[in-house]
Amino acid sequence: MAEERNKIIEGKSAFSGIAIGPIRELTKKNKVVRRNHVDDADAELKRFESAKEQAIEELGQLYEKALAQVGEENAAIFEVHQMMLEDEDYCDSVHNIITSQQVNAEYAVASTGDNFSEMFASMDDEYMKARAADVKDISERLIRVLEGKSEDVGDSQEASIILADDLAPSETIQLDRSKILAFVTRAGSTNSHTAILARTMNIPALVCVPAEEGLDGKQAIVDGKQGRLIVDPDEATLKEYEAKLKEEQRHRELLVALKDKATRTKSGREIRLYANIGGVSDVGAVLMNGAEGIGLFRSEFLYLEKDEYPSEEDQFQAYRKVAEMMAGKQVIIRTLDIGADKKIDYFSLDTEENPALGYRAVRICLDRPEIFKTQLRALYRASAYGNIAIMVPMIISRWEVLKVKDIIEEVKAELTAQKIPFGNPEFGIMIETPAAVVIADDLAPEVDFFSIGTNDLTQYTLAIDRQNAKLDTFYDAHHPAVLKMIQMIIDSAHKAGIWAGICGELGADTELTEQFVNMGIDELSVSPAMVLPVRERVVEMD
Ligand code: PEP
Ligand code: MG
Repeated sequence: MAEERNKIIEGKSAFSGIAIGPIRELTKKNKVVRRNHVDDADAELKRFESAKEQAIEELGQLYEKALAQVGEENAAIFEVHQMMLEDEDYCDSVHNIITSQQVNAEYAVASTGDNFSEMFASMDDEYMKARAADVKDISERLIRVLEGKSEDVGDSQEASIILADDLAPSETIQLDRSKILAFVTRAGSTNSHTAILARTMNIPALVCVPAEEGLDGKQAIVDGKQGRLIVDPDEATLKEYEAKLKEEQRHRELLVALKDKATRTKSGREIRLYANIGGVSDVGAVLMNGAEGIGLFRSEFLYLEKDEYPSEEDQFQAYRKVAEMMAGKQVIIRTLDIGADKKIDYFSLDTEENPALGYRAVRICLDRPEIFKTQLRALYRASAYGNIAIMVPMIISRWEVLKVKDIIEEVKAELTAQKIPFGNPEFGIMIETPAAVVIADDLAPEVDFFSIGTNDLTQYTLAIDRQNAKLDTFYDAHHPAVLKMIQMIIDSAHKAGIWAGICGELGADTELTEQFVNMGIDELSVSPAMVLPVRERVVEMD
């Protein structure tokens, strides 16, 4: 039977834009390798040794095949990989991690692979630099063998449409973004953090796509605007979408003209237009899109990337780097917002019946002050190197703000005693619970600014779980209750002489830009790709 052409699979749009290319179904290889404790390290060493033997054998077969097909010179790489698998330093490192940390071989191989490839990548010599990819390759091969999987022939190195059942935020940020044309997930919701991440990375994304198995390698189109995946498009459809893609690119070029313009209406009212980021690697997009600062640095991604608490030094380096790259422009770093949909194994959080109403964000920070203080010390230390501001999520009560300020005073006293320099960061809170809106008059005198988290504010106001895809039709971001609350927040801020901004997704809704400016908003912080469209709306205003 002939394969069906132009098969349209309807999903939901998480970020618009068009992508055309091959589908790559995400295999386990691209997933995070778990770190498990093992009682019998000797048994793990044996598993590693036998996986190594199998990998060497596989490479031998590959060498023979390549020799016949592409000649000796091109086949030689497989011999190099065989030698690398027997490299003493590499094997010693794996052995050492297994025995000293009592962990599984997969984890030991993944860590060794990361360490060695980083080391090679940082070398000056071009030949040695290129070895980084090889170490990665052999480590992935070993992990696959250890997991009992056979070779994934469908894997390709070309940029592709990534198809997966679901993507956890920690998995999403570990993907090589230069190889991603679009994200398509079978599960997920448009308000999930993965969807937000796709927007931050400026990548078309679809969720809730009931795609069947066996699409790996097929040509497809992602229509992020209409929320559809078109598999194996016919000539006419392909032409139509290539034209749309061109149009999109032209529009982008047009917007570049606005990159270095002030975000000012014709009558002279100016707002600050900032961007949201998840980590250091997003700063390039912030600068490229001409954002005037960073209005939300979701610091929890630093924690999600790791499999143990990031140290004060690790965090300091990341915050400092962002502050330095932004060269004096404001960088608002949100303190840890973990919990709800963002779970981290090493936090050992209990399973909760209502995680969105549970142990999360500032609640964890106040309950586990040692974690909070490490972050605050890193933030204060970094504040000596740029224009850093600190903001705290999920506030519901004034006492929480006062308690955070007490802890900040302790941190400042410690740093002073240790003669460690720090700056004078602005201190703000996120207004993302109805409770905070109602008591905004009492909160405002305690802080320098309010930043409205419309994602959670909408969730808590409308009683709609933002993770629940079934409720997307009820999740009315323009609900009058939410818009009225935004006005209340701005008014409370101005009454106390502080500024108010929006860093939730609603801030990027160009249908509301004019309304926000008229309401008196001082700042909007949006995903980097939305900076120019929002600026376009403001400069068009009278
Ligand atoms: C929000 O809730 O609007 C927000 C910006 O924070 P997050 O989406 O990370 O919860
Ligand atoms: Mg929030």
